[in-house]
Order: sequence, then C-alpha cells, then structure tokens
Amino acid sequence: MEFISIQNVTFQYESQSEEKPPKQVLNGISFDIPKGSFTAVLGHNGSGKSTLAKHLNAMLVPNTGKVFIDGMDTSDEKLVYDIRRKVGLVLQNPDNQLVASIVEEDVAFGPENLGIPSEEIRVRVDEALKAVDMYEHRLKAPYKLSGGQKQRVAIAGIIAMKPDCIVLDEPTAMLDPKGREEVLDTITKLNKENGITIVMITHYMEEAVLADKVFVMDKGKLLTSGTPREVFSQVELMKKHRLDVPQVTELCHKLRACGVEIKSLPLSEAECTSMLKEVLL
Ligand code: ADP
Repeated sequence: MEFISIQNVTFQYESQSEEKPPKQVLNGISFDIPKGSFTAVLGHNGSGKSTLAKHLNAMLVPNTGKVFIDGMDTSDEKLVYDIRRKVGLVLQNPDNQLVASIVEEDVAFGPENLGIPSEEIRVRVDEALKAVDMYEHRLKAPYKLSGGQKQRVAIAGIIAMKPDCIVLDEPTAMLDPKGREEVLDTITKLNKENGITIVMITHYMEEAVLADKVFVMDKGKLLTSGTPREVFSQVELMKKHRLDVPQVTELCHKLRACGVEIKSLPLSEAECTSMLKEVLL
C-alpha cells in the first residue's frame, strides 16, 4: 500500500438545520500518494479539497471508505496521535496558526505538546527555523513579520514535529508574489532535500506545475489526475469544468488551434519561449 491511500471515501458534514439535508462533500474519492512525492490538488471552491485535507491527519474521518496513512487506518481512534505526528497540516491564514509572542516559542509549541524533552526541542526549533530560512528572525514577534515570513514560521512549527508528510491548504492564498515565492521555495526544498511528502492544495496553476502529480477535484470526486503535463494538456476538459491551465499552456493551445505547429504544450514561460523560437525563427 502507498504511504497515503484514500479508498472510496464518502463524507458529509452533519446538517445544521432540519430542512436542509446534508450535502455529500466527498463522493467516493480514491487515490494514492507515494512517500516522498509532491502532489498538488486543484479544484473549484466547494469541491471538497479542504475536507479531503482534514481527512489526511484524522481531523475528519470518512462516513464510508477508508483513509490509510502509512498503513494506519484514520478511523481507528487509538492511532490518531501517531497519524498526527506523521502528517502536519498548514492552513491558509498564518495569523490563525501562530500562537506565541516570539517566533522560536511558536515553533516550539508543537514539539512541547508532543512531550519532547526540552534539549531536543531546542535542537529541533533551530533546525526547523533554518530549514525555512527564518533562523535570524527567531527572537522577533510574529506580528512584525511579513505574510510570507509568518507562513514559513507556521511551516517551521510543523517541521519541528518531524512529520513524514506536510499537507498545505492553499498556503500562499493570502500572500503577495514575494511571499508566495518564498513559501513555494521552502516547500520545494523540504520535498527535494528533506524527502518530506508534500500534498498542496492550490488555486495557482503555476504552483501546481511544480508537483510530481496533480489531482483535480470536482464535486467531491476526482475529475482527472496525472503529471502536470498530462493534466494540463487536457485544456478542453479543464475549460469545460471552468478550471484554468497555466497561461502559457492556454496561449499555445490557442496558437495550435490557429494552425501554428506546436508539438507539445508548454508548462512554463521558459518552455514556451524556446518552443515559439523554434516555430517562429
Ligand atoms: P474546498 O476546499 O474545495 O473549497 P471544502 O472542503 O471547504 O471545499 O467544502 C466543501 C463543501 O463542504 C462546501 O459546500 C462547504 O460549504 C461544505 N463545508 C465545509 N466545511 C463545512 C463545515 N464545517 N460544516 C458544514 N459544511 C461544510
């Protein structure tokens, strides 16, 4: 079994009112995520992405179907603690995730809750802050940091718990372009250099392109999945579901429709430039 295995999961939130029947939010979704991989999850608002993310660290459990994390069934209450040590969750708004008045205390909060000895916490906090390039800011107050810096501190807080996997729910949605770039560089580095499995929900196609595999959700189900190239080459399918593809991919798709000879659709500006140079010069 793969590191994360989502098997035929259905889920609905309990209804708040009698008149409104509960809506099926996850609708029989299945997929696997190998250890050490970088996965991006795309889909419209309301397609169930955050709900799915919460299933990955047992904050929610399926109504039917199963989620396994490293072979552990998330619906087994005895395993919740072990599952949460393996999978850390980073949310959209860093302001809601930082709890202490000094950066390094904030990063120490998670390992303290795990009951880790204080000397070990000291080492972990320094390592985590270095990993997200925030060590020099360790004595600052979080409110003095930029959005991107705050989000990197939130990620450090998760890293200090030494998870195998980090699930990030639109981690860059509240950030300016510089903050987005800093956070993405950090996430990519944690995946490539530290081997941490990454599952990132995002609205940005340019971010999804960085992943090994993309899952596209629609109405609680999987619409399509594959490498970024496989997914984004299905321009018509994505458009039909009002989903974007990277701008350069769409541009070349349109040029191809006008008769320009484009062999394969590019995913980045660099690829697009070299392809168009070949065709036009
Ligand atoms: P996404 O992350 O793709 O925007 P969500 O998982 O947040 O989707 O939401 C999917 C559906 O579940 C939406 O219709 C949303 O209104 C509903 N939903 C989300 N959270 C709750 C909740 N705590 N209680 C009831 N309904 C919820």
